Amino acid sequence: MNDPAAPLDSLPLRDDLRGMSPYGAPQLQVAVALNTNENTHPVPGEVVEAITQRVHETAASLNRYPDRDFTDLRRALADYLGHGLTEDNLWAANGSNEILQQILQAFGGPGRSVLSFVPTYSMYPLLALGTGTEFIAGDRAEDFSLSAESASQQVRAHAPDVVFLCSPNNPTGTALGLDVVRAVYEAGEATNTVVVVDEAYAEFARFGTPSALTLLEGRPRLIVTRTMSKAFALAGARLGYFAAAREVADAMRLVRLPYHLSSVTQATALAALAHHGTLLATVEDVKMQRDRIVDELKRMGLTPAESDSNFVFFACHGDAHEMWQALLDRGVLVRDVGIPGHLRVTAGTEAENTAFLEAVEDHLSVR
Ligand code: PMP
Repeated sequence: MNDPAAPLDSLPLRDDLRGMSPYGAPQLQVAVALNTNENTHPVPGEVVEAITQRVHETAASLNRYPDRDFTDLRRALADYLGHGLTEDNLWAANGSNEILQQILQAFGGPGRSVLSFVPTYSMYPLLALGTGTEFIAGDRAEDFSLSAESASQQVRAHAPDVVFLCSPNNPTGTALGLDVVRAVYEAGEATNTVVVVDEAYAEFARFGTPSALTLLEGRPRLIVTRTMSKAFALAGARLGYFAAAREVADAMRLVRLPYHLSSVTQATALAALAHHGTLLATVEDVKMQRDRIVDELKRMGLTPAESDSNFVFFACHGDAHEMWQALLDRGVLVRDVGIPGHLRVTAGTEAENTAFLEAVEDHLSVR
C-alpha cells in the first residue's frame, strides 16, 4: 500500500506529470551535510529567544486567520532592503520557491513560456511544469558565464513571457553583471517580458558585486526575489520575498491562496528581521570559509569557480559521482548537480569545511 517505489503511472495523473521525478536533494543523516546551501550556523540564542517570545504572543490568537496582507512584514522587509522601497513594493510567500511559482501563475501558464539559462536552479523547470508554462533552456558559454549580448539575443529569439536570471547562479556560484540584467530587460521590451532576478544568495556576494535592486526604479517589469533561507539561516521558517513595482505585488493577490502566510511564519520572520544584524553576523564567516574552500581546492589541483554565494562549484578532474560517493563514505555529503565532472559544496562552519577538505585530500591521494 505504501511502497515508495510503486509506480505513479497507475494513477490518473496529468499527462505532463507522467514519468517525472520530484525535486530530491537527499536528506541523509550524515555528520557533515553540505548539500543544500543552507547556512549551517545554528540560529543565535538571542534570536531564538525573540522568535519564541513573538510566536508565544501569537499563539492565543491562532483561532483567527492571519493578516492576509502581512502588512507589518512587508514594511519590515522594505526597511531591511532600503533602496527607497516601501511595503507596497514588497511581497512574501513560503520560501522563494513559492514566490517563483506565484510569479509563473500570474505571468506564465498554459500557452506561455519562461526562459532561463542552464545550468541553473533545478527547480525552474519543475515550477514551469507545475504551472503549465513552457520551459525554454537557454544556454551559457563553455565556462558557464552569460554575457549581456548572448542573453539578450536569446530573449529576442525566443520572445518568452518570463525570464529567470539567477544571480548569483546556482549551481555555478557566480553573480551576473548588471549589464546582463539591463540588456535582458531591454530585449524584453517589445514582448512585455517579465524579468525575474533570483537573488537567493545576494548577501554572500563578493565586495563590489551590485544587486539588481538598484535597477528597480523605472523598470515596471523587473522583479528581484530574495529569501531568508540562506544568509538569515532560517531555511526552516520558509520565508521568501520579492521587491518590484507596486502593480506586480498587487498582481500576486490574484494567485496566492487566501492567508498563505501563517501567523506563526509572520511572527517568526518579524522577530528575525528585528535582529537581522545578529543573524547576518555569520555571513562574513561563511564568505571567509567559502574563499578558503576555493583557495584550498585550487591548491589540491582542482578547479573551483569564483563564488559570490555560500557554495563552491568545482571541476574535480575525474568522475564526479565517484568523488561524491567517496566523500559520503567519509561522512561528508555534497551535491552532485548532474553536470559531468563537477560537484557543488556548501560553505559550512570552519569545522565542517575542514572535514570536507580533508575528505577531498584523502580521496585524491587514493584515487
Ligand atoms: N532560488 C535559488 C537559486 C535557490 O538555490 C533556492 C534554494 N536552494 C531557492 C530559490 C529557494 O529557496 P527557498 O524556497 O528556501 O527560499
